[in-house]
Amino acid sequence: MNSSLQIILLSGTPGVGKTTVADSLHQRGFQVLSLNDFIISNGLYFGFDYIRESVIIDEEIVQIKLLNLFSTISGYLIIESHAAEIVPPEFVHFVIILRCAPNILRARLEQFRKYSKAKINENIQAEIMEECLIAAQEIYPAEKIIQIDSSFSSPDEIAEKIISIIS
Ligand code: ADP
Repeated sequence: MNSSLQIILLSGTPGVGKTTVADSLHQRGFQVLSLNDFIISNGLYFGFDYIRESVIIDEEIVQIKLLNLFSTISGYLIIESHAAEIVPPEFVHFVIILRCAPNILRARLEQFRKYSKAKINENIQAEIMEECLIAAQEIYPAEKIIQIDSSFSSPDEIAEKIISIIS
């Protein structure tokens, strides 16, 4: 067990700004891990689901690999993922759920993502149904979960807000 590691989960529906905010935190000196990149680069998936346009994750092996990684690092680690429930919760200090107004999220997904119309609609619906928030609430107590609206704040402003929450 590495008791000095404190993980900040950065979750939310695809398009809310997790990667951009994580980059901003990285520029401010924080250790950052994209769970998706970790899964892809380590081959921790069974295959690709062409209907849902996403990889089929081998959750058990992802958790084992994450625990191996956690034993080697200390301090704050920001993990960004829309599937934050995969991260073993023992070291999680806070869960930040980025939220976004559906019309703004749609504009971001249409402008920046090569998603199909169906995938965009699926993500908008997930945001309206608060799926990432509910997934976090099933694991973490309310005092560990903080929602931040990304609709009208810049990624840097959101990063600064997260830093003030951590400290
Ligand atoms: P996620 O990692 O949650 O899928 P991204 O960080 O990739 O989302 O952001 C999706 C798109 O929205 C990117 O093109 C990014 O530039 C833009 N974006 C992210 N955060 C903001 C923000 N706070 N305000 C305006 N645009 C943003």
